[in-house]
Amino acid sequence: MSERFDVVIVGAGISGSSLAWHLKKRGVKRVLLAERDRPASGGTGKSAAIVRQHYSTPLMARMARASLDRGFK
Ligand SMILES: Cc1cc2nc3c(=O)[nH]c(=O)nc-3n(C[C@H](O)[C@H](O)[C@H](O)COP(=O)(O)OP(=O)(O)OC[C@H]3O[C@@H](n4cnc5c(N)ncnc54)[C@H](O)[C@@H]3O)c2cc1C
Repeated sequence: MSERFDVVIVGAGISGSSLAWHLKKRGVKRVLLAERDRPASGGTGKSAAIVRQHYSTPLMARMARASLDRGFK
C-alpha cells in the first residue's frame, strides 16, 4: 500500500514540528512529519528554551527577530 503526501518533513524537533503546524494552518492538506526516534528527541528536548538574539547566521538572526514580533519574549 502506498500513501501520497503534499509535504514530507523529516525530523520532529521544533523546526519540523513548527513547519508542519504552519503548513496545516495555511491549508496544506496532507503533511507527513517523519521522526526516527521520538518527537523532541534531538536538540529540542535538551533546550533551555532561552530566546536569545545573538546568532552568527543571517537566517537564524532573522528567525530570532521575527519571534519577538510574535510576542515570544
Ligand atoms: C543542551 C542544549 C541546550 C540548548 N538551549 C537552547 C536555548 O536555550 N535556546 C535556544 O534557542 N536554543 C537552544 N539549544 C539549541 C536548540 O535546542 C536547537 O537549535 C533546536 O532544538 C534545533 O531544532 P531542530 O528541530 O532544528 O533539530 P532537532 O531538535 O535536533 O530535531 C531534529 C529531529 O530530526 C530527527 N531526525 C534526524 N534525522 C532523521 C532521519 N533521517 N529520519 C527521521 N528523523 C530524523 C531527530 O531524531 C530529531 O528528533 C540548545 C541545545 C542543546 C543541545
